[in-house]
Formats: sequence, C-alpha cells, structure tokens
Amino acid sequence: MNMTRFKEIQSKGIITKSKLPDANYVINPYTGCEFGCAYCYASFMGRFVDEPIAEWGNYVFVKANAVELARAEIDHLIAQGPEMTVLFSSVTDPYQGAESKYRLTRGILEIFVEKKYPGTVGILTKSALVTRDIDLFKALPKVDVGMTITTTDDAVSRFLEVRATSATRRLRTLKELNEAGLPTYAFVGPLLPHFVYREALLNDLFAAIADTGTREIYVEHMNIARYILERLLQELQREPDEVKQVYINAEQKKHKEKLTSMVGELLEKHGLRLRLGQTIEHKKVGELKGRNPQTAPTKSKTPKLSVE
Ligand code: SF4
Repeated sequence: MNMTRFKEIQSKGIITKSKLPDANYVINPYTGCEFGCAYCYASFMGRFVDEPIAEWGNYVFVKANAVELARAEIDHLIAQGPEMTVLFSSVTDPYQGAESKYRLTRGILEIFVEKKYPGTVGILTKSALVTRDIDLFKALPKVDVGMTITTTDDAVSRFLEVRATSATRRLRTLKELNEAGLPTYAFVGPLLPHFVYREALLNDLFAAIADTGTREIYVEHMNIARYILERLLQELQREPDEVKQVYINAEQKKHKEKLTSMVGELLEKHGLRLRLGQTIEHKKVGELKGRNPQTAPTKSKTPKLSVE
C-alpha cells in the first residue's frame, strides 16, 4: 500500500460556492483525501494539483492558510443571510488523519462559533475524529452532522474505503453524536451496487443506522462516470469477473430502479426519513463535459468568496 504524501500550500480562497442540492457553500481545508475510497468521485480534483486520478488517496495538499482565509471571508458569508448552508466538505474529508495534526477544520469552526454564524453548518465525514469537535458543534446556532456509512461489513469498508474509520466504528460514532444531542443524518452514498443481489445486507445497514438513534438518511446511487469506473476496476482487478460486472451494471436503469425500490421499502420498515425525498442520481459524465456537478465553477469575475 502506498503511503500518503503531504504538502502544505497557500490557497486563494476557502469558502466556495456550491451547486450541491443541500449546500450553498462548501469548505475543503485539504485537496486530496488520505482515505482513498475506491469509488470516490473527487479523484478528478487531481487535475488542479497535477496528480493523476490513479494517485487519489496517495497525496494531500494541506491549505495551511485555511483558517486565516476563513477569518477574512466569513463576514461576506454572514451577509448572505441565515438561510445559507455551508458544508464541510464536498471533495475531501474534513476529519481525515491530517486534521489531527493541522486542525484546520477545527480552526475554521472556531471562527464560525466566535462570529455566531447564523446559517447552518453541515458536516460530512467518515471519521471518528469528528467527536473531537462536539463542543464546537454544540456552540453553533445551527448544525447538521452527517456520517457516511455504506455497509455494516468492516471487510467491505476496508477494501473500498481504504483508510477511513471502519464501518462499525462509524456507527458507534454516529451513536455518540446522537447521545450528545446533535442533529445527525447518515449518508448512504454510494448505495453499493451489490445490495441489489443481497437485500438482507441493505436491511442490516438501515437497521444499524436506525439503532444509532439517527432518523434521517441521504441515499445516493453510485456515480459510475468513466474516470471513476476505471479507477474502481483497477482496485477490483483481483476480484472475480462477476464482482466487476456488478459495478459495471450499476449504471443500468433496471439496476437503479430495483435499488430505489428496495430503499423505499426499508425506509418505512426502519422508521427512517429520506432527505430530499428521493435516492439521488448523478448525471452521466458525457452530459457534464468532464465536470462534476457538485463543483462546476460558477462565472463570477470578482468573487468575494472563492469559486473552485
Ligand atoms: S472520504 Fe470522501 S473525499 Fe475522502 S476518499 Fe472517501 S469518498 Fe473521497
């Protein structure tokens, strides 16, 4: 296994406009993510730092001036009004291992607390480190803490989500966040394609999430754009052909419809509410002209807040 390389850089901006359906702005304190998930759509970020897609997970550019930038940019964000939502993070994990050392996510959150940021601060992570900042989450007027959990099987999570906190530890972390009285949700994304043949495993996942006390989930089909599939198949090269085929089939309408229908039934069974009212689907890469919908740049010549 490759070791992750770290490099400190100076960034031009840190609070970035977003086209996500449930976030107006995003904050990515790092470029790259040492968790290195095999299905990660954010691997396209390598183009901004001259790293090939296949290297995703092996490098992290640390935005060393992120806290300073947040201090300079937050007043403009506050001026956008209390209905705004800002998400940590969209193309990296804000609580990956580097955060233990650099404390950029924490440093930015401290500014949000100090300024009593009136909008919603959203968190999305695969890391148990998130509980370190419970004190700050409690001090924020509006917070929404999400944990990505795609399976209950640690062997699957170790294989696909290479260096992230194990699935069972993430479930325990979600429970701890609930016990702290925070509003939480589980992000089941990507909805792993093999569930279509193993409904009992999806049932187990929804049951385990409900057991943590979380009541809201956000479900997203796997984004199987060409650049993602190529990297994924590289990771799956030692697997039998039928396993690879499951991932290739994930793009088929019939496959997605079956999964969507299974999700509908299991939500009711486990008393879970589906965020956005539907299982989310990505656009096909051809329609996007190689751009990820979540980070497509907006055209603003003199942005107060940076646009990646
Ligand atoms: S934790 Fe998120 S950003 Fe990091 S590699 Fe995994 S999917 Fe990508």
